[in-house]
Amino acid sequence: MMRQYELVDRVRAYNPHADEELLNKAYVYAMRAHGAQKRASGDPYFTHPLEVAAILTEMRLDDATIVAAVLHDTIEDTGSTREEIEQIFGPEIARLVDGLTKIKKLDLVSKRAEQAENFRKLLLAIAVDVRVLLVKLADRLHNMRTLHFVPEAKRTRIAEETLDIYAPLAGRMGMQGLRDELENLSFKTLRPDAYAMIETRLADLREKNVALIARIENEITEEMTARGIRAEAKGREKAPYSIWRKMERKSVSFEQLSDIYGFRIVVDSLEDCYRAIGVVHMKWPTVPGRFKDYISTPKQNDYRSIHTTVIGPGRQRVELQVRTRDMDDIAENGIAAHTLYKEGRAADNEALERESSAYRWLRRTIEMLGEGDTPEEFLEHTKLELFHDQVFCFSPKGRLIALPRGATPIDFAYAVHTDIGNKAVGARINGRIAPLLSELQNGDEVHVVIAEGQVPPAAWESLVVTGKARAAIRRATRDAVRAQYAELGRQIVRRAFERAGKTFSDDKLKAALPRLARQSSDDVLAAVGRGEMFSGDVVKAVHPEFVAERTMGASAAKGDSGWFGLRKAASVVFKVPSADPHLDSIPIRGLRGDLPVRFSPHGGAVPGDRIVGILTPGEGITIYPIQSHALTQFDDHPERWLDVRWDIEEQSAELFPAQIIVSAINEPGTLGAIANLIGESGANIDHIVFVNKSPDVRDIVIDLEVRDLKHLTGILSQLKATNVVSKVERVAG
Ligand code: MN
Repeated sequence: MMRQYELVDRVRAYNPHADEELLNKAYVYAMRAHGAQKRASGDPYFTHPLEVAAILTEMRLDDATIVAAVLHDTIEDTGSTREEIEQIFGPEIARLVDGLTKIKKLDLVSKRAEQAENFRKLLLAIAVDVRVLLVKLADRLHNMRTLHFVPEAKRTRIAEETLDIYAPLAGRMGMQGLRDELENLSFKTLRPDAYAMIETRLADLREKNVALIARIENEITEEMTARGIRAEAKGREKAPYSIWRKMERKSVSFEQLSDIYGFRIVVDSLEDCYRAIGVVHMKWPTVPGRFKDYISTPKQNDYRSIHTTVIGPGRQRVELQVRTRDMDDIAENGIAAHTLYKEGRAADNEALERESSAYRWLRRTIEMLGEGDTPEEFLEHTKLELFHDQVFCFSPKGRLIALPRGATPIDFAYAVHTDIGNKAVGARINGRIAPLLSELQNGDEVHVVIAEGQVPPAAWESLVVTGKARAAIRRATRDAVRAQYAELGRQIVRRAFERAGKTFSDDKLKAALPRLARQSSDDVLAAVGRGEMFSGDVVKAVHPEFVAERTMGASAAKGDSGWFGLRKAASVVFKVPSADPHLDSIPIRGLRGDLPVRFSPHGGAVPGDRIVGILTPGEGITIYPIQSHALTQFDDHPERWLDVRWDIEEQSAELFPAQIIVSAINEPGTLGAIANLIGESGANIDHIVFVNKSPDVRDIVIDLEVRDLKHLTGILSQLKATNVVSKVERVAG
């Protein structure tokens, strides 16, 4: 196990100003915290965080990163808390360790390969600080190096995850050395036979080619020296996993691979790169189409090099990479290398500008280098703002779903499946009940509670942030409205059939669809409900032999106010109720479907009245007292009449509309007396109109709200009994 002084020495070797006391404190703290814990290898657990820290000293990282590495498993695996770590090591280190703890928790969630991209984004979004990722990658590297101690079943999962998520992440961060090692260790675990085969072949090749490689190295160096270029040429073989991938991708055999060996020429300056490539091209013929200049156009991960392939000594194809020492370090160590090279990089801003937007953060960090910040400040400010406009959440089954920031469980539900969204009635976030409109956070596990037969409230449309949810809600609402029209149409059509002495059936209607030029029965019924099709036409389509006894007119004029939305969904299309908003259900039996209901706009209806419902296509049902004069206009539309009756408890406190006309003596105080009497009886006055002003008598139309017919009759009697009223009667609108 690495000793306390060894850790300090390693850091001191590249950073003379290292905080020795801090490093020692971390060493002792983590050692005590992990206590007697053991790894799968049987080693003390504490060796693991130490090795992770050692990997990071190779990348020459700052004190805070090294300390975070030493502490990285304490919160999750020991009794330590973030508060305690913050108290002892300060907020910066506490934040780093906290980030690592969050990522570690994610490891427990099952992940599928096709979601690797989202998972990498989640890591980036959660990490908040690039140092958290560096420690995480070092952590994974050490775990991979010691993977053979872990039980086989677990081994496969970890290796797959490394190949899917962490190796590409290292690649994105430009850390090619780390990526190669992670890939090869995973490959060795997942395909031991293939790995062994490639290793054997490589060993053979190495033996055969050792002289050739040395010869090429020497020839390049000599040629460069002759032209006054200081260069170091090194032959290197491709990593087993890269070879394997190429064999698979191009379906070629090991023998067919021409680029197992590559040569890297490292020079002092940018100018020397181009001079060196000139020398190579003059000396050996080039292979067409193989020249790539990643110096003038760097790769997204900041990789820079010139690539070419030539026919070299012994007519061998030789792949060459030319770059500066600086570029070489960045190619190997990526973002971690940026901490070391502060000088002479500001001039490259132009090239860095060309990086894709996803790597803006990297560019920013490099700009900061150009401004001469210390490596510590550089790292401190390397906050990951990547994907800050997205959140990544898990389904209970571990499916990872990317959503725009601000997304709600409703958006999540629709992202999982339209059906889930339509039926959503509640949500549990990380096990806790949460409002459907909560804002989701990265890493949230979202369980959507659903109920059958649910229609999404139309109001959701303006509250969700994803287009998919919005479109689905609009569609579902439209479907619900259409279903209402179809239900209304069904009642109208059924009545029309009854009147014609025929029985209505869906099968008969279906057979008549071509004659009605509609796709489905629902289309026909909705059209009737909407008033676009006449019910008599449906009867004729089904029974062409039938001749109507009398002409059925078009639908009656629409009512203008007073509709009650029975259900929220209904109020989407129909007018907002103008009456009491508390009246959200009508105590009347015989109302079918979710159709909106209102009382006769002229005269109302109260419990105790014998009533009838009238269907109005496109609107709903209007309740009239049976004595209402208005009913005569529906005499020719018997199909619109509905049998309904009151369904109300004796002691209901609900009030219902009625209209009376009072003839009263025209003298001061009359109206006050009438209003008083009505008020004292427990009724409401809604509206008063003077319809006739003679010098002696006034006719006053009063809209009332009463409990029932008995209540109304009582009020009428009391009014008659006063000495200011000459006549009073109910208006039968
Ligand atoms: Mn660990």
